Amino acid sequence: MSSRWLDTPLAYLKGIGPLRAEALAGDLGLRTFGDLLAHYPYRYIDRSVVLRIRELQPGPAEVQVRGLLTGVQTVGSGPKRRLTARLVDGPDELELVWFKGLRWVEKGLPVGEEVIVFGRVNAFKNGLNIAHPEVERASSRPAAAAGLTPMYSSTERLGSMQLHSRGFAAKIDALLEDPARDRSDWMPESLRETQKWPRREVAVHSMHHPESPQALAAARNRLAFEELFLDQLLFAYQRLQQGRGRAGHRFASVGTHLTKFYEEILPFPLTEAQKRVVREIRRDMGSGGAMNRLVQGDVGSGKTLVAFMAMLLAVDNGFQAALMAPTEILAQQHARSLENWAEPLGLRVALLTGSVKGSARKQLLADLADGSLHLLVGTHALIEDPVVFHNLGLAVVDEQHRFGVAQRARLLAKNRPGPHMLVMTATPIPRTLAMSLYGDLEQSVIDELPPGRKPIQTLHRTDANRLALWSFLKKEIALGRQVYMVYPLIEESEKLDYKDLMDGYESVCRDFPQPEYQVSIVHGRMRPEDKEWEMGRFARGETHIMVATTVIEVGVNVPNASVMVIENAERFGLSQLHQLRGRVGRGAEQSYCVLMTSSKLSDDAVTRIETMVRTNDGFEIADVDLQLRGPGDLMGTRQSGVMEYKLANLVHDGPLVEWARRAAARIVDEDSQLEQPEHAALRARFSDYARGRMVWGRIA
Ligand code: ADP
Ligand code: MG
Repeated sequence: MSSRWLDTPLAYLKGIGPLRAEALAGDLGLRTFGDLLAHYPYRYIDRSVVLRIRELQPGPAEVQVRGLLTGVQTVGSGPKRRLTARLVDGPDELELVWFKGLRWVEKGLPVGEEVIVFGRVNAFKNGLNIAHPEVERASSRPAAAAGLTPMYSSTERLGSMQLHSRGFAAKIDALLEDPARDRSDWMPESLRETQKWPRREVAVHSMHHPESPQALAAARNRLAFEELFLDQLLFAYQRLQQGRGRAGHRFASVGTHLTKFYEEILPFPLTEAQKRVVREIRRDMGSGGAMNRLVQGDVGSGKTLVAFMAMLLAVDNGFQAALMAPTEILAQQHARSLENWAEPLGLRVALLTGSVKGSARKQLLADLADGSLHLLVGTHALIEDPVVFHNLGLAVVDEQHRFGVAQRARLLAKNRPGPHMLVMTATPIPRTLAMSLYGDLEQSVIDELPPGRKPIQTLHRTDANRLALWSFLKKEIALGRQVYMVYPLIEESEKLDYKDLMDGYESVCRDFPQPEYQVSIVHGRMRPEDKEWEMGRFARGETHIMVATTVIEVGVNVPNASVMVIENAERFGLSQLHQLRGRVGRGAEQSYCVLMTSSKLSDDAVTRIETMVRTNDGFEIADVDLQLRGPGDLMGTRQSGVMEYKLANLVHDGPLVEWARRAAARIVDEDSQLEQPEHAALRARFSDYARGRMVWGRIA
């Protein structure tokens, strides 16, 4: 709808002009009336509370304090020049100090008057002071100034142009009172009504002048919901386009392979969660549209098996299927599992990685192209150009957050029409985050582990317990079990870490002497062949202890290993700890995870360790991780366009995200072209929003 008023350049606002307009755009990206109105306060001060000087305490919160303003003077010279003043209240005094804009500040100070000073209190020498306070005549304060006063973020340059917090407030008030102000609301009324949210103009007003904390919450929720909703609407169209709206092979029949596998080969019953997800996959692949689905599940929940059954469905309908993994080790392991299951069915599986070369590679590619190869497992090597399928019907991506949308797109391009797509996460990510990060995918969750697994016992120990730990390990080894001992390896401190690892290895070798004990070591500086060889020895049970860096995080599957010792555990992130722990507990035996830390831990580290000790539930751990680290950090990279919200917060707004997703899906379902009168304003707003963000052009 691109309202003319909202799009008016800020230079046209009274008292702004070209100079300030440029600074606003440069410093804060604010260009239009609409931008300035959406420059919401970063916090609110309860102006009804005015403190006396003797009540003050140093702290990060801004406070108001009342007193007589006296003793204004400039002191020091050069860069140390500053303006000081005293606030006096009977016997009590507070120093006020300014380092910048001295002349301008001094001119505005009502010396000798009762004032209300506003700012952050610091402990200074033997007293208190406030640097760069705002000063207001007590008499000029309207009686009704009680209530929440907005605080706006600004910059030094803008501050020097009188666009400090109060300057912003004045300009924003001018916009709010502008008779020509845009009062439209694009949110469909039915949507707004269900939550009893205020109209847009009311919400925006409340953000700047909340009448009560309740009114503020309603306004914030409505506006945060808007941000999420527009994103989710975009995702809903992407799903429509890549999924139901994208031509797909209809895999209608459950054929002989899947039936035979299910009835004769599968050695255990599927969990209910696995059954549900397989049903969801079958429905997608049988729909005539293309599948685009994310399967989330905890370590060991049996995602691979689900993927394999989907692959069989493709084969049963005359197509090939591929599985792409993020590392070579993981690809090898998948290939092995798939071979075990596929061989009795008479299906051919091959592994394609960077190390498959020469004639072997040539043969593989030929078999792939003529269709005699049914299932292909591999790394990134899969999406390279020379890899041509006879007819790829399903691509599975085992994700580990490492493949981007672009790589998925290259897989899709391997066939016309593009194959069905199944993405599996390696560890759970919080639901809210998944809905934003993988918003373009339908979501399935395997929230149940196969029965009979003994939950891993997790213990927290320090160096003081090392002797006891050693004898515990010896007991486990005597029972025929194996042990992992993992050291952190962080790139920035690689040298030190490497030394830790080697020191650790040496002391383990000393305390677990040959020939009774065999110790393996694997780390990133070894040649791939050597790594492979050592891993092989451990996997075959020829060594008892595997000392390693996190290279073993993904992939290794040694069911006989029952103890995971993580050294310097405080240095690992939660999801990594959980991944590592998932390396044990794969067999029938009781397994243990021992988190070794120093005795001094940061608060965050304590939370991480306590969380690990408390629960084995990857979804719960992912939630704590999100709380600790925030969404951007959690995913390693900031995904463009995702999570850049002004108000919405993926950590706290879970219910809003879910609601936005459902509301968006419903609207696209019922009125995909947004033609209903109720959706007219939304249509205009959304086409604005989606412009430059793909899809819309092709939908409308
Ligand atoms: P992940 O979800 O971590 O990829 P996997 O697919 O590797 O899990 O499965 C972990 C182990 O559990 C494998 O050995 C697999 O064969 C086994 N498994 C999978 N599903 C079941 C089930 N329904 N009952 C028993 N074991 C299962
Ligand atoms: Mg897996």
